[in-house]
Amino acid sequence: MAKRDFYDVLGLARNASDEEIKKSYRKLAMKYHPDRNPDNKEAEEKFKEAKHAYEVLSDAEKRDAYDRYGHAGVDAAAAGGMGGGAGGFADAFGDIFGEIFGGGRQRGGGGGSQMYRGADLKYGLEITLEQAANGFDTEIRVPSWENCEVCHGSGAKPGTEPKTCHTCGGAGAVRMQQGFFSVQQSCPTCHGTGKVIPDPCTTCDGAGKVRRNKTLQVKVPAGIDDGMRIRSSGNGEPGVNGGPSGDLYVEIHIKQHAIFQRDGDDLHCELTIPFTTAALGGELEVPTLGGRAEITIPEGTQSGKVFRLRGKGIRGVRASYPGDLYCHVVLETPVRLTDKQRQLLRDFEASLTEGGEKHSPQSKSWTDRVKEFFS
Ligand SMILES: [Zn+2]
Ligand SMILES: [Zn+2]
Repeated sequence: MAKRDFYDVLGLARNASDEEIKKSYRKLAMKYHPDRNPDNKEAEEKFKEAKHAYEVLSDAEKRDAYDRYGHAGVDAAAAGGMGGGAGGFADAFGDIFGEIFGGGRQRGGGGGSQMYRGADLKYGLEITLEQAANGFDTEIRVPSWENCEVCHGSGAKPGTEPKTCHTCGGAGAVRMQQGFFSVQQSCPTCHGTGKVIPDPCTTCDGAGKVRRNKTLQVKVPAGIDDGMRIRSSGNGEPGVNGGPSGDLYVEIHIKQHAIFQRDGDDLHCELTIPFTTAALGGELEVPTLGGRAEITIPEGTQSGKVFRLRGKGIRGVRASYPGDLYCHVVLETPVRLTDKQRQLLRDFEASLTEGGEKHSPQSKSWTDRVKEFFS
């Protein structure tokens, strides 16, 4: 049996808050709990279903995976673990949690401990070609950090205190003498904080901060292309010792489209036409991103012919006019012919042969070239 959508199970919209998820689950759990419904198979199933949906949606990481990949995302996480083996899923997940690139460490001004800018984060956002062409607003859920409630951000177990680091005397940095040079570097004992925590808080493992998720509004501009990044200033990892936060980069991945391939601002598509239309000519409806368009197929159109529809491509982010749509003609050979159709084609072929080379100029020149090749 196909699994139901977890949000449907809990009767919630996809943007439901954690509180709403909890509330809705409690209600269902009360209603269908086996203790209240002895020997009721249906209630038991409903209870299990709600429990499973809640387990996923109440866990920020699992919910994120489910939002992005559906049941497959959650199943992959369960099967392969978060670390790997789950292929694309694990890769994409790594994007959100922890991939650090270019988090340039900046030396902060004055004071004892060193101040660092937080690392930048990258978030992969998969969108459709239509969304890329027209632009859209969306929400993404990204990790953020809050002061730990148990230790109030100190990182020390309640009742204990962080102590001044002995190695650097609280400066956060040490000087190393190398020959004539004296090099200052971050203290290896306290990692630049100037303090050590002898008895770390068990809730945050001494970090003083815990991870929560927050929702960000993202405006995806019309014309955005695959691999482009949108910067969300200050939404990366928090800085160290009061340093500024890093930035969050939303990297765009455009899903493959069923009809169009994108090449910069131009679009390409295949146009399959019956060989009779190609021979006789006719009007043909073609799809464009903006709707339908009509093109005239001239009599005697050959396979591989390309029709260009000016301005039916995509207007790039910084472009002043849109690209074009190229329709590549592919002739379709009729299949599963009846005896009568076969006979009609044989008669037709005979009439072509009778008419000589004027009906098939390409075949004629091709045959000539082959003859020349063998002679
Ligand atoms: Zn703590
Ligand atoms: Zn130190």
